[in-house]
Amino acid sequence: MRDIEHPIWCEPTRCSVGSDRVQLKGMHRSVVLTTQYDRHSGNEARVHLWSYDGIYVYMQLEFPGSLHDGLELTLEQGEEFGTALLDLSKLGGRRR
Ligand SMILES: [Zn+2]
Repeated sequence: MRDIEHPIWCEPTRCSVGSDRVQLKGMHRSVVLTTQYDRHSGNEARVHLWSYDGIYVYMQLEFPGSLHDGLELTLEQGEEFGTALLDLSKLGGRRR
């Protein structure tokens, strides 16, 4: 049997590859990064990486406690999304 190769970002305590917790092969998962987006409610956005094979990697963006289901993005889409937020933040901070 071949050894399982985990991506460098895989968090062992969140990974299910090779375990019997999931019927299929399982899923590599990273740590979860959180950021509070609403000071008053304390609501957070959470994002983590996941992959079935370590090759095709996705970002899962979740908004716990909201009506939004969240987003599943490729790494490229995540980078574009992050860049757009950063660009808008810079634009919003400019003065005439
Ligand atoms: Zn793993």
